[in-house]
Amino acid sequence: MFTLALHGGAGTIARASLTPALEENYRAALRAALRVGTELLAQGAPALDAVEATVRSLEDYPLFNAGRGAVFTHDGHHEMDAALMDGATRRAGAVAGVREVQNPIRAARLVMEATEHVLLAYPGADELAREHGLPMQPPAYFFTQQRYDQLQEAIAAGRMQLDHAASPTPPADPNWKRGTVGAVARDQRGHLAAATSTGGMTNKRYSRIGDTPLIGAGTWADTRCAISCTGHGEYFIRAVVGYDVACLMEYKGLSLAEACRVVVHDKLAPVGGEGGLIAVDAAGNIALPFNSEGMYRASHNAAGEEEIAIY
Ligand code: ASP
Repeated sequence: MFTLALHGGAGTIARASLTPALEENYRAALRAALRVGTELLAQGAPALDAVEATVRSLEDYPLFNAGRGAVFTHDGHHEMDAALMDGATRRAGAVAGVREVQNPIRAARLVMEATEHVLLAYPGADELAREHGLPMQPPAYFFTQQRYDQLQEAIAAGRMQLDHAASPTPPADPNWKRGTVGAVARDQRGHLAAATSTGGMTNKRYSRIGDTPLIGAGTWADTRCAISCTGHGEYFIRAVVGYDVACLMEYKGLSLAEACRVVVHDKLAPVGGEGGLIAVDAAGNIALPFNSEGMYRASHNAAGEEEIAIY
């Protein structure tokens, strides 16, 4: 038995803003990424390999705000954050503010496996990736016109914004993009892992870092649960979201679903922490709560049933 869940970001996803063609594009991308992860898990691969491969697949899609297609900083750059964690060993690796490595999630794994550190940032993190031969890309690789237009809108409005909150009326272009990405899995041995990757928030400045690469906030895995978050990072950092779910399960004895509900709806929502998370536990349960209008998500449960949903 194994389970896998993934997300492609949460936010203001109004039904009216998605044409059927665009919606099908997202669903196809989510389905393809789910397949990457489930095929590995079906072959007996560790949860860590499955979440890394799933996230890498989503990073390569320019549809999502991670890797190729990442949002722009105020200065017109891409600064990407990623993290992964292995629940059985509690080993973790993360990068923040990388600009050149093609797949930030691979760099995060490198931090975990090739260094004694947990989090590396900015040029040093890219340097590590380069030294270990990971594929690097020039800025043009990450550039997408739609994200650039979002930046101009955000600058004009003077705000830093969630990728999905960007344009209330997105263009009817089937390549229009949104979404931080993440994956959580329980493998056949019962081990859990989580991975998250993002370009952060459009128009971010001053080397801002969100919740994604902060272990315990945007990304967490232990022997009880694996969590990957998406939403307004500052709120998720202050709420230590991933670890809070784990604590509610450990200290209060809550189920996965109840712990996730408390954090997303009772704690984050009242203070304006828009977003959601994906979670799995060791028993094979899955929870996909969000307090925003929508969250791109897909899952493969213990019975082998697949679900792909947006709203
Ligand atoms: N949580 C991410 C950040 O704040 C953004 C997102 O999930 O869309 O960087």
